[in-house]
Amino acid sequence: MVNINYTPTLAIIENSMKIVKRVLKFIAIFIGIFLIFIAIVVFVDKQNTNYLKVKNIKFANNNSFLITNVNIIPMNQDTILVDKMVYIKDGLINNIADNIKIKDVEIINAKNKYLTPGLIDMHVHIWDRYELGLYLSNGVTAVRNLWGMPMHLRLKEDINNDEIISPMFFTTGPKLTGPEFIGDDNLQLVNPTEAKEKVISYKKRGYDFIKTYYGLTEDIFDAVIEQATISDMDIVAHPSQKVPYSYHFNPQIKSIEHTEEIIQQPLNYKLDSLKLKEVINNFAKSKHSYFSPTLTVYNNIYQMLIDDNILESEQLQFMNPLIKRVDSKAQFERWYTTKLRDSSIVKVIKTQHDFHLKIIDKLHETGVTFICGTDAGIGVTIPGFSIHQELAFYKEAGLSNYEVLKTATINASKTHSIMNNMGTIEVGKVANLILVDNNPLSNLSGLQNPSTVFIKGRKLNRKTLDSFEKQAKNRNNLIASAVRYLENLIIEK
Ligand SMILES: [Zn+2]
Repeated sequence: MVNINYTPTLAIIENSMKIVKRVLKFIAIFIGIFLIFIAIVVFVDKQNTNYLKVKNIKFANNNSFLITNVNIIPMNQDTILVDKMVYIKDGLINNIADNIKIKDVEIINAKNKYLTPGLIDMHVHIWDRYELGLYLSNGVTAVRNLWGMPMHLRLKEDINNDEIISPMFFTTGPKLTGPEFIGDDNLQLVNPTEAKEKVISYKKRGYDFIKTYYGLTEDIFDAVIEQATISDMDIVAHPSQKVPYSYHFNPQIKSIEHTEEIIQQPLNYKLDSLKLKEVINNFAKSKHSYFSPTLTVYNNIYQMLIDDNILESEQLQFMNPLIKRVDSKAQFERWYTTKLRDSSIVKVIKTQHDFHLKIIDKLHETGVTFICGTDAGIGVTIPGFSIHQELAFYKEAGLSNYEVLKTATINASKTHSIMNNMGTIEVGKVANLILVDNNPLSNLSGLQNPSTVFIKGRKLNRKTLDSFEKQAKNRNNLIASAVRYLENLIIEK
């Protein structure tokens, strides 16, 4: 009797097991195909930037040159060394003199030209390899990426192994913020123990610096600073709103970012000159931190407000397509609808930008050291090109051309010990140099479209630099960029 009842039940179970197995198999195949698809998309995107590969570029084999008849702007002193020779040997500046006798080296006659250190952008967001070519094309020979993801570790490895032609590349880890959720673009820390673990893990994995973000609470921030000091990791701070502004004047924090944060926090969103005095005095008392103004990214809000077609502009064709479709569009729409509701916003933003210039002027009087940072790579702030705008704003704020150029050369290189080997034209420094037709100390616009860029001694002429721009224009790597972003969300959270 028992058997009669048992047999059909077993059959049903066996049958349903078969169905489950089939479904699982189907899911496994689907996931497999999906992963292969993703791998191909990412691989193809990398292949498409093979024009940056050292082994594919004929002239990249040579990193020794003799530059003759050149006017040097060395940037370790306010002077021009007229009609000199510079010997670059194996990617380093080997000798600077009136006359250098050397055999078997390619000579570059730079008569009437000016040689300056390559520019350094200390606040960028990199999304793909095409951007590296855009930075080089604009004379930027080193970048500090301030939103680290796994893709940046791979990129850094390829650059440091000399596989691709690129600006020298430094990156923070993911942005560290506090327990409160403020979007998926940062890492939420819930307690001091976790904070310390993250600092240790980022160091181990190869991130260069720690980036702190605006929601960090004091107890967690203290833990980050404590561990960063022990682990010898420099901190770059987007000021946290949860601690007093002056909290950031800490020897482990090597640079403080964004002028608008001064208004949003210590000035409590008011353009208050009297309160500003207090803030400036606090800066004066502290000798630790360098300041990265990022005036361009804020001013670009104004640019979005006055140009309804900015998303279709030629400049935006150089933006990463994912950023363009998501971030640039969202930012534009946000400000466009704000303007429709209340048109006075245009003037408000412009007035605040002008106040930023005033802040820079006051900080400058106080003796604060500036480092040039654009925040390129998000919104409508274009990689590479925007550095010239940023420098022009420092000039407008009241810095001399020499002081402006310092922000993107010697000052930047002094921020972190791992960047000390660049930023000036001196014997022993890495040969990251730009050659321009007009004296940038007379007019900063002379830095645009350098005729030649040397990166680790390798010579890139204007034709090559223009081709980097062409390759990056209207690139089609939306899915690959999205995959890399998703990878970050999965791995870093
Ligand atoms: Zn940023």
